[in-house]
Amino acid sequence: MADDLNSSQELDPARGRDFCRGCAGKNLFSALDLGDLPLANELQREPQEHVEKFPLHLRICKDCGLGQVGDVVTPARIFGDYRYLSSMSSTFLNHAKTLVDMLVQNSEVNSSEWVLEIASNDGYLLKNFLNQGIPVLGIEPAVNVSKIARGLGIETISEFFTRRLAMDLFDKRGYPKIIIANNVMAHVPNLKDFLQGLAVLCGPNTKIIVENPTLLGILDSMQFDTIYHEHYSYLSATSVDFLCQIVGLRLNKVEEVAIHGGSNRYWIGSMNSNEEKNASVESTIEAERDRKVFSQETWVKYSQSVNKILCTFQAWLEDCSEKGRRVYGYGAAAKASTLINAIKLKPDQIIAIADISEEKQSRFMPPLGIKIISPSDLVKGIPTDILIFPWNIEHEIFLELRKILDGEVKFWSAIPELHEVTYQ
Ligand SMILES: [Zn+2]
Repeated sequence: MADDLNSSQELDPARGRDFCRGCAGKNLFSALDLGDLPLANELQREPQEHVEKFPLHLRICKDCGLGQVGDVVTPARIFGDYRYLSSMSSTFLNHAKTLVDMLVQNSEVNSSEWVLEIASNDGYLLKNFLNQGIPVLGIEPAVNVSKIARGLGIETISEFFTRRLAMDLFDKRGYPKIIIANNVMAHVPNLKDFLQGLAVLCGPNTKIIVENPTLLGILDSMQFDTIYHEHYSYLSATSVDFLCQIVGLRLNKVEEVAIHGGSNRYWIGSMNSNEEKNASVESTIEAERDRKVFSQETWVKYSQSVNKILCTFQAWLEDCSEKGRRVYGYGAAAKASTLINAIKLKPDQIIAIADISEEKQSRFMPPLGIKIISPSDLVKGIPTDILIFPWNIEHEIFLELRKILDGEVKFWSAIPELHEVTYQ
């Protein structure tokens, strides 16, 4: 078993560059080249001059429609020191509860069945099933995070989900009624092995729910800051439909959900189930085709727009420096790292980045070792301007910060283009 686990995590420098990590085809084209960037989630314990950088280049497979970047980092390196807790955002907590309530109300699962969640994080979602007496199992490779879930009574396996692990689970427990794999497929280098694992655990009545931001969102909402090395894949409905078929699964329905600035919720079942394919599958695939998501020309224009946004952002920072304004960042998320590393940031243009996570505070973000501070230290710093990096929850953050900061402070977001964040 250890061998399988390791092989599914091994890097292959050609994967995502010379061949597709979904269908193994060789028909990849260049969509957006962001240059060499440091690893987005690797915060430094001390500010360092030299930071290891790796190419960050989005390519799209013409055969299956999957967006992807090349392998440069192992999942073990990402999740060995993982600092992201889902429960820290009320938006994510509400979204999880709404999903679980909907599943229970629609009798999709009851207390004699069980629910599997892959990437169950700190138990933010599964705890809602437990409250309704429905048995659950979480899979969460980040040991520090899975400990929190166990503290809530959620049985959690601290491993990566692989085909091999799926076979073990099937032998011990049979088919789950529901499998939830939200915002995890992007983090899997060996996507085919992961999908094969889902197929092993998908019985005739099992429903698999996968939520993930979309390639179309990156394109239409300028979400290029969601591209980073730890996000190996960028899903489209076209790719999910295609890759499911390869492993004996079927995409049955696609819904749009508002989380993460717009995601698709894919409902997947067994090829052998009686469920009919909903018209939403074809209409979503058609919309991607109509928008020319899989045409290189579309992405040439997109790359030009991204450059323009980065130039405007950089000019704004320079202008703020000249005027002596005190610019701070908020939210030391991976998005922040992609954005500030894609421009030529100068010292003190961003004085520090505040973050609610105590795990992140006192660490430093590349490239210039920007210090991560607590929200109360942000207040003490007397900022004039705050850049909110997690634009997907920018209004939630804005309302929280308004309570503790002077009324003169201005709030900004650089995505989809630089704008002031105000009351809606
Ligand atoms: Zn492909």
